[in-house]
Amino acid sequence: MSNPLALHGGPKEVTRDFSWPVYDNSEIQAVTEVVASGKWGNPDCGDLVEKFEKEFAAYCGSKYAITCVNGSVSLRLALIACGVKPGDEVIVPPYTFITTASSVIECNCVPVFVDIHPETYNMDPSKIEAAITPRTRAIIPVHFGGLACDMEAILAIAKKHNLRVIEDAAHAHGAEYKGKKLGSIGDVGSFSFQSSKNLTSGEGGIVITDDDELYAMMHSLRNVGRIEGGQWYDHYNPGCNYRITQMQAALLSKQLERLEEQTKRRNENGLYLNELLKDIEGISPLERTEAITMHCYHIYIFKYDASRFGGLSKNQFAEMLAAEGVPSFRGYPHPLYKQPLFQNKNFMCYAIPETADYNSVFLPVAEQACNTDAVWILQHAMLGEKEDMEAFARAIKKIQLAHHI
Ligand SMILES: *Cc1c(COP(=O)(O)O)cnc(C)c1O
Repeated sequence: MSNPLALHGGPKEVTRDFSWPVYDNSEIQAVTEVVASGKWGNPDCGDLVEKFEKEFAAYCGSKYAITCVNGSVSLRLALIACGVKPGDEVIVPPYTFITTASSVIECNCVPVFVDIHPETYNMDPSKIEAAITPRTRAIIPVHFGGLACDMEAILAIAKKHNLRVIEDAAHAHGAEYKGKKLGSIGDVGSFSFQSSKNLTSGEGGIVITDDDELYAMMHSLRNVGRIEGGQWYDHYNPGCNYRITQMQAALLSKQLERLEEQTKRRNENGLYLNELLKDIEGISPLERTEAITMHCYHIYIFKYDASRFGGLSKNQFAEMLAAEGVPSFRGYPHPLYKQPLFQNKNFMCYAIPETADYNSVFLPVAEQACNTDAVWILQHAMLGEKEDMEAFARAIKKIQLAHHI
């Protein structure tokens, strides 16, 4: 007899609460001080914003960092600065958050989807070249869940075809590829500080780069087209007000102090959970190669094989796992090209060529990840103790025992 599942009224396997965000009095004090100073905004009185930008750039090993309102606008700033023109094509993965692709639409460009690799769920470099046309201008690799893309392969393709590389590092604060911080490897790295992300101020985003011209353009676009050294009411570029507040910057500086320790903890827990799950038939953690010197597990992903769980569907499994108290989720229900935005071509005022067509796109690895395979454990759970990882494995085993025939 197996134990009754929590979904069916049995006791939960995991009873601990995993809270997020993590903060204490020092965050409260930092924000309080900003409020009391009366200097809430940038750039008139944006010393804390500039301070955080310097800190984040130094942390990533990049020359420049420019904050902005979120991790979607940050992609748009990067694309425009990289010089995309209407009708240009930008290569994106289908297994990511919508704005990786919709930011491309907002630049009047065409997202071209390239399938993910079945062992990493990151864009499969061996499939990129087939998607390149004379209109391709950029590639946006997403370090999905905080797992580094195969950047050497992607940079080599980009170099050969003269393409820009914009890393979508919204999941990847503090993670590394061959000892280098993600986001610092391509032309631009883009991050989000939205509330679920590994570094957060509720909302916010940032771009990093080593390139002087990209920096100057993204800085201008973020600040209503003003240029450094220019007059207040002189506007040179078609930007907008995408600035963050001093309160956000104060919070981010404090949160950044916690990031390294949190990242190491998630990384260690992830390695441990990999070991524990390897022993469960029908559960396969994603692959980690030697190149992954640091994984920040924004999402810990494993592949689920229903045939080892008596045919229990992934969605039912994920529901049962969450009921057991594991902060987990079935993940994206569809690859991005299946979204109504693309299927119905609801491109509104954006100048997307008539020839763009998403109805015939079918990328099997992304389909399989969404439909049957991928299960996510969320980042705040990866900040737990070793015993919590053991409890996650027990919860999975418990569901298996209840269904294995
Ligand atoms: C969260 C996220 C974004 C967008 O960031 P926001 O700050 O929510 O706008 C972009 N790309 C990926 C992969 C994300 O997960």
